[in-house]
Amino acid sequence: MSTYKFHQFIVLDRGPCNTAIIDLLKGDVFQATNQEIEKFEEKKYDEIPSFIDSLLEAGLVIEVDDNTWIPHLILKKKREDEKKSQLSIILEIEEGGNWEKIESLFSNLEIKEISYFGENYPGDVFPGVPVQKQKKDFSKCISRSSRVGKFSRIDENFYQYSREYNNCWGRKIALTQDGKIRPCIYSEIELGAVDTALNSREIIDIAWKYWLITRDMVDKCKVCEFRYICPDCREIAFRSGGTLHSPNPYCRYDPYSGTYFD
Ligand code: SF4
Repeated sequence: MSTYKFHQFIVLDRGPCNTAIIDLLKGDVFQATNQEIEKFEEKKYDEIPSFIDSLLEAGLVIEVDDNTWIPHLILKKKREDEKKSQLSIILEIEEGGNWEKIESLFSNLEIKEISYFGENYPGDVFPGVPVQKQKKDFSKCISRSSRVGKFSRIDENFYQYSREYNNCWGRKIALTQDGKIRPCIYSEIELGAVDTALNSREIIDIAWKYWLITRDMVDKCKVCEFRYICPDCREIAFRSGGTLHSPNPYCRYDPYSGTYFD
């Protein structure tokens, strides 16, 4: 007997009334009602013919023998102590800081990349670490994190990362011109100051709770079917809602009804 099965790189995330069908191979995202998914799982295909057609057309399912085993992606969260010892971090640095102090603080860590907000990056600091020059523009965070019904290509790394870390603040440390250490370059939150006696491990211990604010901890988002594919901005949410777990005020999606509002 034949049946339909989702291919190996599909993940399904349920919300209260809709399910996101996320194709981590092609990076596409589809939405189905929970009812359609339940009928699909119960193999009541004759009750959802147009849904089956749309799944076939999008290449999300294959028709196979009932006994065919299709492996699933392994998406387990890593143990926290294991993660902490294997960290590579992203540094955001604003022009005008104390380079000597910054270098001595962070040179014992593995730095994955540096986002430099300024013109004159001293090339001899953190040799070999890729540097991206950026302009400070907080409005980009608003457009990036505003849910408008479309997601840019989602890959497995982004999806997995969003399950483990906040997909903006995760593993990031920002150093602003005024000598403060913050969760990101735009943040008003202070984690410490560059010229205090903190060492890099102590800074990571302080930043850790900010890095781990996944959407599972954010009001409204924690039930949303888009929670692991939606770009987050905790700074916008914090300024508007007053807590680190407030929802983004620019989100126009209501996962409880599965509808968008103005
Ligand atoms: S409720 Fe949260 S996860 Fe869902 S679309 Fe809005 S911001 Fe994204």
